[in-house]
Amino acid sequence: MTVRRPEEYLEAIKVRHKAEIYVMGQEVKDVTTNPFLKPSVMAFKATYDAAWDEDTKELARVWSPFINEEVNRFNHIHRSPEDLAAKVKLLRKISHKIGACFQRCVGFDALNTLWIMTNIMAQKGKTEPKERFVEYLKTVQKKDLALAGAMTDAKGIRTLKPSQQPNKDAYVRVKEVRSDGIIVSGAKANITGVAASEEIVALPTRAMGPEDQDYAVAFAVPTDTEGIKIVVGRQLNDARRFENGEIDGLPYYYNHEGLVIFDDVFVPMERVFLLRDWEYTSQLVEVFASFHRQGYGGCKAGLGDIIIGATYNLAKQIGIEKASHVQDKLNEEIFLTETMYAAGIAASLNAVQPCPNCWWVNPMQANVTKHLVTRFPSQITQLAIDVAGGILGTAPSEWDLKNPKLKELLAKYLQGIEGFTAEDRLRMVRLVENVSLGVAFMIESVHGAGSPAAQRIMFSRLYDLNYAEEVAKRLAGMKNNAKFSTNAEPWRPSETEKLVKEVPTKRQEQKSK
Ligand code: SF4
Repeated sequence: MTVRRPEEYLEAIKVRHKAEIYVMGQEVKDVTTNPFLKPSVMAFKATYDAAWDEDTKELARVWSPFINEEVNRFNHIHRSPEDLAAKVKLLRKISHKIGACFQRCVGFDALNTLWIMTNIMAQKGKTEPKERFVEYLKTVQKKDLALAGAMTDAKGIRTLKPSQQPNKDAYVRVKEVRSDGIIVSGAKANITGVAASEEIVALPTRAMGPEDQDYAVAFAVPTDTEGIKIVVGRQLNDARRFENGEIDGLPYYYNHEGLVIFDDVFVPMERVFLLRDWEYTSQLVEVFASFHRQGYGGCKAGLGDIIIGATYNLAKQIGIEKASHVQDKLNEEIFLTETMYAAGIAASLNAVQPCPNCWWVNPMQANVTKHLVTRFPSQITQLAIDVAGGILGTAPSEWDLKNPKLKELLAKYLQGIEGFTAEDRLRMVRLVENVSLGVAFMIESVHGAGSPAAQRIMFSRLYDLNYAEEVAKRLAGMKNNAKFSTNAEPWRPSETEKLVKEVPTKRQEQKSK
């Protein structure tokens, strides 16, 4: 059972007894058959398929020292820079099969974040959170559970800290501490894949001060828990899923996001990993955000490949694939896609080790990866639109194509080069529309794992401007204090590396050799 079959995952999430899940105002009990959620469930399932498909199982299966068995990579704790690179590669490959976000990486990153943070807390003398986390991790790995990571709070008034908010539940908080657990209240917003998950791993969304300690809480609960209410968000073209079509709505795979309301939810103490530990929240946010930003170099590059392939095919369908301006646009799409991927791989192979047995991405390069992703998908999309032509916004529906009175006429007027049918043209146009203009490539690329400003804050924290200035002053012949470091990069340590500075980081180890 350790590497679970996809069908077992579907069976496990089929019926909800306690949690309430709402889609467009209606409560949904079976998420596997609901027309809105089914594409998202199938996309989540692809992470289970990956452990069995011949082309992905090498990447998707990995040995876990925690339970001494093979596990699905999505529940694995990274043990090397190569493990981190394998994550990026696996994400690129799964994107090829789904054309959307497959949603499981947020929980994956939450697990790795808690592993690092509870290790750091243990080094500082607080050992209980790590003990609880390791027991939880073993359960997750043995059962191959489907996790959703829940980070972003409702946030209320953005200029106010959690404890200053007029709505005390604007951030998820500890409302009561009992001997056997805690009561939590509040809501997490934009939670990817949550209705298709079995467990929610909740983390604080921002750095907290002592006055915010009730909001400094990290925990895990089964999704099907009393008091959990999930309101699934709407998406572009979502009503097409109710049409029972097979072309227009990319009906089989899609992601969803939801508002998760914790209405006085009880969390047993063995599932609580941060409890009023406000002093670790800044680092926790940094670790999680960097993990997820690195992953975008894989999944968004995979979506880029789909758009490149579709652009090429649409050009062929109308006979312009050899035109120099089309080849130039394809090369630009390739350059943009491979740059995102290269950054994600660099962030993996230049990993840092904030504690023994902990592997974290390179924070600078992970943030660069995500910042590229905030820009490049829209550029790739623009090039695809350019080549595809106005039909991308004006194509008739599949129902027109299936109407006996229109079928032949549309076949005549939509066809270009012989060998491609009108249906081929419509299918490819819809693919570009659904993938490139959908949530995963356009909106998630900007705001997922933190909005663009969040990466720029990280650049200014991590890049040592003073060092670069001294280097420049020296070459300009000005008075300077240039002292060359052995590091090639003018980078400062991250908050996390500073917190553990008495424990040698990988960078420091390399430096001392
Ligand atoms: Fe995974 Fe990418 Fe979706 Fe994040 S956006 S959950 S990294 S597929």
